[in-house]
Parts: sequence; structure tokens; C-alpha cells
Amino acid sequence: MNPSGQWHSLDLIEATTKLGTDLRKGLSSKEATRRLEQYGPNQLAEPTRISPIKMFISQFKDFMVLILLTATIISGLLGEVADAITILAIVVLNATLGFIQEYRAEKSMEALKKLTAPEARVLRDGLEKKIPAADLVPGDLVNLETGDRIAADLRLTKAVNLEIEESTLTGESIPVKKRTDKLPDPESGLGDRRNMAYMGTVVTRGRGQGLVVSTGMHTEMGQIAAIMQTVGEEDTPLQKRLEQLGKILVFLCLGICAVVAVTGIWRGESPMQMFLSGISLAVAAIPEGLPAIVTIALAIGVQKMIRRQAIVRKLPAVETLGCATVICSDKTGTLTKNEMTVRQIFVNGQTIQVTGEGYEPRGEFELKGKPLTKKEREGLDKLLKIAAMCNNAQLKREKLSVKDWITGKKGNREWSISGDPTEGALVVLTAKGGVTQKELEKQEPRLTELPFDSERKRMSVVCQKDNGQRTAYVKGAPDVILDLCDYIELAGRVVRLTNEHKDLVLRHNEDMARQALRVLAFAYRELPPNFEELEVDTVEKNLVFVGLAGMLDPPRPSAIRAVELSQAAGIKTVMITGDHQVTACAIARELGIIRGKEQSVTGKELDRWSDEELAKRVDDIAVYARVSPKHKLRIVRALKQRGHITAMTGDGVNDAPAVKEADIGIAMGRTGTDVTKEASAMVLADDNFATIVAAVEEGRAIYDNIRKFIRYLLACNTGEVLTMFLGTLMGLPLPLLPIQMLWVNLVTDGLPAIALGLENADPDVMRRPPRHPRESVFSHGLGGKIASRGAQIGLVTLLVFLIGLFLLPARGGDQISQARTMAFCTLVFCQLFYVFDCKSEHYSVFELGFFSNPYLVLAVVCSALMQLTVIYVPWLQNVFHTVPLHPLQWTICLVGGGWQTVMAGIYYWVIHPIRLKFVYLRVHHSR
Ligand code: ATP
Repeated sequence: MNPSGQWHSLDLIEATTKLGTDLRKGLSSKEATRRLEQYGPNQLAEPTRISPIKMFISQFKDFMVLILLTATIISGLLGEVADAITILAIVVLNATLGFIQEYRAEKSMEALKKLTAPEARVLRDGLEKKIPAADLVPGDLVNLETGDRIAADLRLTKAVNLEIEESTLTGESIPVKKRTDKLPDPESGLGDRRNMAYMGTVVTRGRGQGLVVSTGMHTEMGQIAAIMQTVGEEDTPLQKRLEQLGKILVFLCLGICAVVAVTGIWRGESPMQMFLSGISLAVAAIPEGLPAIVTIALAIGVQKMIRRQAIVRKLPAVETLGCATVICSDKTGTLTKNEMTVRQIFVNGQTIQVTGEGYEPRGEFELKGKPLTKKEREGLDKLLKIAAMCNNAQLKREKLSVKDWITGKKGNREWSISGDPTEGALVVLTAKGGVTQKELEKQEPRLTELPFDSERKRMSVVCQKDNGQRTAYVKGAPDVILDLCDYIELAGRVVRLTNEHKDLVLRHNEDMARQALRVLAFAYRELPPNFEELEVDTVEKNLVFVGLAGMLDPPRPSAIRAVELSQAAGIKTVMITGDHQVTACAIARELGIIRGKEQSVTGKELDRWSDEELAKRVDDIAVYARVSPKHKLRIVRALKQRGHITAMTGDGVNDAPAVKEADIGIAMGRTGTDVTKEASAMVLADDNFATIVAAVEEGRAIYDNIRKFIRYLLACNTGEVLTMFLGTLMGLPLPLLPIQMLWVNLVTDGLPAIALGLENADPDVMRRPPRHPRESVFSHGLGGKIASRGAQIGLVTLLVFLIGLFLLPARGGDQISQARTMAFCTLVFCQLFYVFDCKSEHYSVFELGFFSNPYLVLAVVCSALMQLTVIYVPWLQNVFHTVPLHPLQWTICLVGGGWQTVMAGIYYWVIHPIRLKFVYLRVHHSR
């Protein structure tokens, strides 16, 4: 399909015939599959990805590794062949480990990209389906709604007040009004093709439908090969900071390594040996894996979040989530279930109750507990008519399966609605009253629609009878509708709307709102003959008020728990809703958002406040009612000004600026528009508030895990450097040979460090206050812990080396090999014990249980077995210059490595219970 094809100058019949599409049913699935094979996926060519082989080779590009490899080859040429081969093997193993980690991280990022890939609503086999935009084929019919990003080039077939912003393509930022009729000039430019919609542009208003004319690289966008989306490729602030830290540590380590090497040579050791020692120490001690490990922790965390329905689009959000101090959430559908049922109707000055549950269209209309009389129904029928006409939702029932038909279970099929849930509730209501849109539209077809948006808070349709009479049917927020009404219909008569009438309606509105009902008002207007200007300003005035409908939208039980959880975690929940203040407060109370002094304000009040005033009061407000999307942006800014880290949800197009401005912009996966999703850092697959809190919990856990990594890695490396450095300063022979150093690095930094990333969240993770975003990774005493444990590992290893060198008589091997083997084992076991301490900063391993993370136990067992192998397998003994150890030597090594863990165990099992008992007795005694 050629992009320059002049689809705009074809009429609809010509276009559909050319593409072989049925305008009522779309393509058949079979035909769509065939075309997908023929034309390929609807994607722009992606930049070529780095191949696994290149990724593996890049592991060797590290400067230090290159020097080590060169040195190894030189030492091999000088005769140390076994050493050279082993060092090479270790380096390759290390690179393999690095490769596996990087590859996994890359794969999970790719999976994430697939999850956030755009979707399109197409008509296939006569039904509307949501499919990945990549599966669109020429000839597909795509339905468009406000907020959609257009997924392919389309010839428009329907346009209801459709406006599209095409700046990505034409540079023109003012939205273009679209229509469907054919354009006479085949040469008209892109910007003038009013009956076309192009890939990458955005629907800013109205609804429509379009016939796909070209896909993928054949679209206009494909021609200019613009990059549509980048997901999750930014480095996080922590990654950047750690990269800097890594660089400082590299220089520090290099300095120390140089001192170790030079001192050794000065003391008469072989220069080659010392050169290798220096380099091996550098390779082992430089925490080159630090930023990579953060990426892995983030990747693992992101996977966990996906399992909890939170899809992260921008990696930095994972970190910021852990710092969130305020979550601003929409009400409808996020804090509430979005399963609405109309419970009350107010017409003719009377309140009618509606019975029935769920979406099943069965229920009664009752006045004071009794069915309505014919006269009492009059006003109600008018309201039901407006509710049915001014509506785009549909009530559906599962298809009857043969089995159900045979077993007679015809009544058990689920009812569901498609479209806006508010309108869905009204369709159920009208069906209960025996009124259907289909029947009504036969007599009075719809001419146009003035669509709902959260700014206007109302919607209208204009319909026309056979005799030419045009009527506008309007529904919307009661306060808004009432302002547009001049008349009211009472007992079938239209009279002027007086202030008393208004008061009565508003009182009933408040009554319903206090019962947490969401209220909609209904009105109509018979338009003068030949009324042509079907615009908002001309149609929606001089209306006749008919009545109110109150619908129940209960809070999600999981949201109630989540609000409580976030409160314990020091995070404030704020409700931002377009709904009435009284309804909003009633629901906020049920949810626990309002408990004491928290206040609520309305959009009107906000309009009167300056930004400074809002910032002053923002800390006290928990509910913002009757606000429009533009207020959200002001609220986010005010919160930020007060130093808050704000998460903000949004779904409509107009929410996008606030979502973008928030520290953590959150879009709704189900009801959210493409534009908002693109502006967001995270998407909620289930639109549920509880998912945000779950994501915060994961965010905190991920950060904790990164700190665990850092603590383990840096303390171990400090221990290694210190052993070698102090040994050299003391004029001792090398405590560990280069090959042993490299092995320590492989055994301890490999599996155990990765397994730490799979550690569960601490039990108190949601009982701590939020972390400050600029707080150092070494805060809360982590730096001290690293330094002290590092020093302890270094000193203990050196001590054991001294014992092996001077106090224990050599058995079997020579004295120095014995001492080195002992130091070697002590260093490894120090680290293997220490990794259990790093499981948590707040709980000891005895409180958490050794097996709470089975991967860690497995990793430690594997590493210990690997260590035993290099000590007991004879040919490895030669390579690693080790000797077998006898029980006394082992005891010394293990006590050296594990004494702290043993002490912690004694404290936990013996001293702590005794202390508790003591405290208990004292308290008991003093009573
Ligand atoms: P949230 O709590 O997520 O902001 P909301 O539904 O309360 O959602 P809006 O969608 O902005 O907020 O709706 C604002 C008001 O507009 C509602 O309280 C209702 O009175 C009215 N309204 C909602 N949906 C429709 C609709 N489809 N047609 C007409 N009026 C509507």
C-alpha cells in the first residue's frame, strides 16, 4: 500500500471496495491473518539490537580485564602455563556470568516493551476487538476515541466531532477538524487531507472510525522513520550515582594495587608475580559490577511488579516509587469498583427506588415500597428515554453455548456492558423500564453527538423525528445541567424553572450524594424548526430539566486495605474526582481517606486560590471534588513545592500534563488513553488503587535489595583489598596468590550476590516512613557497616594467614601454601557467612529464617562446594597452589569466617529470650 496513494480523493465505497472490506463487519479474522503475512507487522523498523555474541564479547572490553588478559598471556609465554590457563578460565567464567545477567536484564526489558506496546480497537467478524497495533492490516476498520494515538494511516469512515492533532507529522499543533467526504483535489497536501488520519497523530476530541490504508514502514510516519516510543531505557538516578562512585573506587583500588605491587617488587618478589597480583587484586576488588547489579535488581523488581499488575514504563520510577509521600488518585474505577447500579431516581418531585443487582436488566421501580402507578411513571419514562438516547454503551450477554442450551441453564449467562460504566448503568436502568435505544433510534435517529468530557461534565445528542422535529437530549453533572436549564417538566407539563425548583433539586442531589451515590441530571430541548448550528454553545441552553438518577459505585475492598497500608507507610492518599463534593467525601470516609481534620475543596474554590495559597493549604486537603483535569496540574505543582514526592493517576487526554509533571505519573491500563499512557511512568493493568500501593512496596523492596548488594559487595571487596594491602605493609609474603584472588571474586561475587537480589521485602517495609530521594545510598549507617565488616574480614583473614604461617606446623605441603590455603578459605567463608547478614538491615537472619530465600542457600552451598573442589581435587590443587586442610585448620578458618554469625545466633537463641524474661519479670513485679 503506497503512502502517496490518493485515498483522500476516493469516496468510501471506492475505498472499501479497493481494500475488500465490509463497512459493517470489518475484515474476517482469517483474511486479517492472511494480510498480516502478506504485508508484515504494522511496525516501524527498530534500531538493530546488540546481538548476544557482541554482548558476550563486550564483557571483555573492560580495561582492567584487558590488562589482566595481556599479563596472563605474558606469564604464559614465560612458562607459567597452568596459571595462565586457569586465569583465562576464570575470566571467561566471570564474563559468562556477566553476560547471563546482562542478557536476562535485556530480555525482561524487551518483555516489558511488549507489555506497553500500543493497542487498537478494530472491527473484525462484526465485533469490536482490542488487538496489538502491530497486528493491524490494510483493510481493517479501526474505532477511534478521544486520547487514542492513531496506529496506522486511515481513510476516515466516521467522524463525530473528530479532531486530530497532527503536529508530529505536519508541525501544526492546533487540532484539525476531520470529516469523511471525499476531497476533490487529489494533489492536496498532508495537512489538508481532512478525511485522513495518520499514524502517530492523536485524537484530541470526538469519536470516529477509519479504514486502514497503509501500515508499518508504508505509512507517512514510516516514510520519515520517526521513533515512536522509547521505553525503560533511561538510567536511574541511583545508577548514575553508582557509576560515579564506581569511578572513584576504581582510582582508589588502582592506587592501593600499585602500592601492593611496588612494595612487593621492592621487597624482592618477582616483578611478574607482583604485576599479576596487583592486576588480579584490581580485577577482584574494583566493583565494576555495581551499576550492572542495580540494573539486575531493577529488572527483577520490574518483573515482580508486572506480576502485581503494575507495568513500569520508565525505570527511574521504580526508585522514585519508594520515596512517594503522596498518592493522588482518581475516584471512579480506581478507588471504587466502577460497577455502577442506579439505585434512586428523582422525577416530578418524588424519589423512586430502583431494585435489582449487577448488570442483569431485572428490577422494579418503587415509590415508598409500592410499584408505580401509570401516572407516576410519566416523568420517569421521559428520563429513561433521555438516558437511553444520550448513551453510547451497550448491554451484552454471554452467547448461549450448546451445553447450556441442552442442560437448560439459559439463565446463568453473565451480563456485561461495553463502553463507559456510567452509561452502562443507565442502559441497565432503561432496560429495567422496558426502553431500548435501538427502538427509540428507529423513530428518532441521532443526527449528532456533543461528546462527554471531564471539563464540560455533560454530554448531548441531537435526534430528529420523521416530521423534521429535532430534539437535544442532555445528561451530566446536576449543578452543571441545572445552570443550563430554564424550564422543568412536572407531571407532564413544562413550567419555568424557579429558584424554589432549583433548591428542591439541589437538596435531593445532596441527599443522594450523602448516601455516596454518584448523581447525573437529565434534560432536553426541543430545537426550533430548521435549527442547523449543532454546536455546544447553541444547543446546550434553555433546557427543560427532567430529573436525577443516583448510582452506587462501591469502594474496592482492596483499596480500603491499601489506603490503610499507605497510611502506615507514611504516605498520604488524596482523592481527586470530577464527582460531587458530598459524594466524594462520603466515599472518602468509607475508604479511610478522611478520618479527622482533613478537608475537602471543590474546583470552584481552587479557581479562587492563587498558587501560593494552594501550596500553603495543600497539606491539609484530602479530597478535591468537581475538579477538571487542569486543576490536577496545579495540585501536583503545589505538592511538589511543599517537597512532596507525588504519584498521580490519570486516564483522559487532559490528564496527560499532570501525569507527566508528577514524580510518578500513573496511567490506567484499561480506561486510560494512549496519550496518558505515553506520558506516564507506570501503567496499572487493573486500574486498581491497591496496585499503586503494591508497586510502592516493591519499589521500596528493590531499593533495599540494591543496598543489600552494595553492602555485601563493598564490604567483601574492602576485606580483600585490606588483606593484601596490610600483608604487604607488614612485609609478609603475599597472603593470596593472584589466581586465588580471582577465584574469591568469582565464588563470592557471583551466585550469592545475584541471589541477594531475589531476597523478599523486609516485614516492616511498609511500616517505615518514605525515603528521601536525595538520601545517599550509604545513609542510615550503611557506610559504617561496610567499613567495619570490611575491616573485620581483612583483619581476620590476615590473622588466620599469620597463624598458618607461624603457629601451625606444616603438614604435607610447605608452610606458605598452608597459610595461603587457610587465608583463602577464611576469606571465602567470611563472605559466605556475611551474605546471610546482608539479607536485611533491620532483621537478623535468625528472625527471618535461613531458608526464607532458598536461592541464597543454594548459591552459598554451590560456592562452598566449589571452594572445596579447588582444595581437594588434586589437579586443581596444583593449579590453585592449595593444600588439603586438617580439622584444626578448618576450625580456625570457619571460626574466623563465621564467628559473628555464631554470636548473633547465641544472642538470638539465648541472651535475647533471657533478657525478655527479665524485662517481663520486672514489669510483672513492679505491678
Ligand atoms: P474520577 O473520580 O475518576 O474523576 P468521575 O467520573 O467522578 O471520575 P468525571 O469522569 O470527570 O469524573 O465526571 C465528572 C462528572 O460528570 C460526574 O460526576 C458525572 O456527574 C458527570 N458524568 C460522568 N460521566 C458522564 C457521561 N458519560 N455523560 C454525562 N455526564 C457524565
